[in-house]
Amino acid sequence: ETETEVELIGKNEIFPMYKPREKFSNKGTYGHALIIGGSYGKIGAVVLSGKAALASGSGLVTTFIPKCGYIPMQSSFPEAMTLTDHDEEKLTDISFDIEPTAIGIGMGMGTDVKTHVAFQKFLESNSASLVIDADAINLLSKHKEDLKLLKAQTVLTPHPKELERLIGKWKNDFDKLKKAKAFSKKHQCVLVIKGAHTITVFENKMYINSTGNPGLSTGGTGDVLTGMITGLICQGYEPLMASLFGVYLHGKSADIAVEDYGYQSLTASHVIEYLGKAYLDLF
Ligand code: AMP
Ligand code: MG
Repeated sequence: ETETEVELIGKNEIFPMYKPREKFSNKGTYGHALIIGGSYGKIGAVVLSGKAALASGSGLVTTFIPKCGYIPMQSSFPEAMTLTDHDEEKLTDISFDIEPTAIGIGMGMGTDVKTHVAFQKFLESNSASLVIDADAINLLSKHKEDLKLLKAQTVLTPHPKELERLIGKWKNDFDKLKKAKAFSKKHQCVLVIKGAHTITVFENKMYINSTGNPGLSTGGTGDVLTGMITGLICQGYEPLMASLFGVYLHGKSADIAVEDYGYQSLTASHVIEYLGKAYLDLF
């Protein structure tokens, strides 16, 4: 077995990969993010994720949600275009006639049988870069044969429970990382293991993030991270780079926001709001 290289990711590692905004650019220069998810009562997850993709710098954002989310989405997120499933409460047919640069999928999506069939069909036909989170990870864990449908460099962003469903129970941290590495290798995916110190695994390397704080232990922050990584891929960052950069900026934004809001009151929306300050902190 080959040895694993471990790298700690701070500003010095992130800054060299930063792509400045070009003077002679337009929204087309920075890609089109498509954020797919939501179900009755969980449309907010897609609102947060979409807003985070936009704030990360994506040129355009489209959200794809069940029909019941149409009005709340359009009212709360005017910058986004919105496509809807024909089902009111859940996703049953994930098809569209746009060509997104990158897609984030799974937030608040639920694991209904019809949603699984739609997700499977989507995976079979999709060619855009993909970031898979939340219930889309849970569906893959429940139907492991679907993992074969993933293209190389797909990003998966599990929190601890989602990771356990995906790779199985681990005995200790060492065993967890060994299993994670084997999974990443087998499916050629970028595995973002979320936690207090988020660890990104790809090929024979592990990257430990240095930003973030317990203020992030609150609903919706993971949805924000998925949107950010999707938005970064849209701007031309490779999936691994986008993951490292996204995780770093997400934590840095929370570190700056906590100065104003405190650990208890920090919300996922604040992480989006302070993303600009996290970018500015790079200089
Ligand atoms: P999720 O559970 O999907 O909402 O994701 C939670 C997000 O918040 C992930 O990006 C975690 O890495 C981050 N997070 C949660 N708790 C902490 C913590 N105690 N310290 C740093 N980051 C955290
Ligand atoms: Mg989550």
